[in-house]
Amino acid sequence: MRERDDASEERTGKQRGASGCACGKDASVAYEACCGRAHGDANAAAALAAEDVMRARFTAYVVGDAQYIVSSTHEESKDRARESLLRDAENTIKRIRFHSFRAKRSSEKDGEAYVTYEADYTQGKGRGKMKTLAERARLRRDAETGGWKFVDAVALGANASLDDAGDAAAPGAPDPSRRPM
Ligand SMILES: [Zn+2]
Repeated sequence: MRERDDASEERTGKQRGASGCACGKDASVAYEACCGRAHGDANAAAALAAEDVMRARFTAYVVGDAQYIVSSTHEESKDRARESLLRDAENTIKRIRFHSFRAKRSSEKDGEAYVTYEADYTQGKGRGKMKTLAERARLRRDAETGGWKFVDAVALGANASLDDAGDAAAPGAPDPSRRPM
């Protein structure tokens, strides 16, 4: 979390579209006024729409905020039950470089939400080939805060056309046993 004046950040973001938040929601809104609010403030996080929770999780990987991955994971999630969740998130931050996020579809109903998205990433230090993770995430309302939290995700594997020929076996997740998001 960088400590800078919110208003000046917002202005800077509006002047320079390139400094928009990594989640891609609005190129004129900087990180500090977008996902950064949820990363630094539990109340702001609880107020997010389900789609924006997934955006904020994506951006958490980009900026290296492993703690947000933990705090935005629902207590009913199998991931949450693993004591290694924080360590896994930190490892993913080291191993995977996320580049862009595209929300495709989202629905919220009766305390459960689904968000379909694509995320482009490279492995290692960014020299690898760009791959695309396509998933549908499930979120539930947190009993305590009422905010949406991540439960699990299924790989959609519909990204073959986005990968180079010969890499059609890429199932979306770089390591199916440890989903990056
Ligand atoms: Zn954002």
